[in-house]
Amino acid sequence: MGHRKQRTISRRVVIEGRGLFRGAAVTMELLPAPEFHGIAFQRIDLADRTRIPAHVRFLTKQFRCTALTRLGASVEVVEHILAALAGLQVDNCLVRLDAPECPNGDGSARVFAEALLDAGIVEQTALMPRIAVQERIVVSHDDGCPAISVGPAGSGRLTVTYDLDYPGGVISRQIRTFELTPESFVRDIAFARTFVMESEVRALRAQGIGLKTTAQDLLVFDSSGAPIENRLRADDECVRHKILDCIGDLALAGAEITGIVHGRQSGHHHNHEVAREIASKSTVTRGRAA
Ligand SMILES: [Zn+2]
Repeated sequence: MGHRKQRTISRRVVIEGRGLFRGAAVTMELLPAPEFHGIAFQRIDLADRTRIPAHVRFLTKQFRCTALTRLGASVEVVEHILAALAGLQVDNCLVRLDAPECPNGDGSARVFAEALLDAGIVEQTALMPRIAVQERIVVSHDDGCPAISVGPAGSGRLTVTYDLDYPGGVISRQIRTFELTPESFVRDIAFARTFVMESEVRALRAQGIGLKTTAQDLLVFDSSGAPIENRLRADDECVRHKILDCIGDLALAGAEITGIVHGRQSGHHHNHEVAREIASKSTVTRGRAA
């Protein structure tokens, strides 16, 4: 499959909300950007408005989410907006924030996907650089079992299979395979919300994290595996959210990826490791001008 053209949005859109962990009010602005700009974040509440590119080089360790730091400026919980941008093939966009944490919306990527579609997505002239994964890359759990792997794809697309199977957990095993296109992202993945167990919520609250969160902000499961004050949007909403996180995290490799991804109980740190390996071992092709 040939390279497609780069895309951006046709106008600025604004998303107001609160961060999931810190609970701070935040305004996110999404702005059109020129070809080869890529995705970058900017903290407009700081004196130094350094741009923080969405790239593995700027990853920083952060509890249960994906965070980027450059020259002292940080942005946190970027994985869902990155998934929406990658899912809808918006390659060039400046994301401005007036707080460290991205708005949570309802814990899914829906608020971001809707904003991007509302702004309108336009094709640019230059072709989109692509990383076609050539060699299999595996990142393992501490026990040596593969957590996430990526290998070559014949389809010219990114396909993610995720196997969610928490041993002894109350969430039943869920396996799903997803081939990424803008249409399938909106239909099958964007709506899937972040989920946690009630016991985890209690532990987090004891540390002062997520004090303002309610059942409208994410899915909380009780000890029997039932969602508290909520209804599932799909029987396998959890595995769909894990795929959403994978798409957002892998976008940090810095180009459109074609490959086949298998995740099994992988978390953000495994996804980051794979994105690093993809970025360092792969060749970026730029395509030929038409
Ligand atoms: Zn997530």
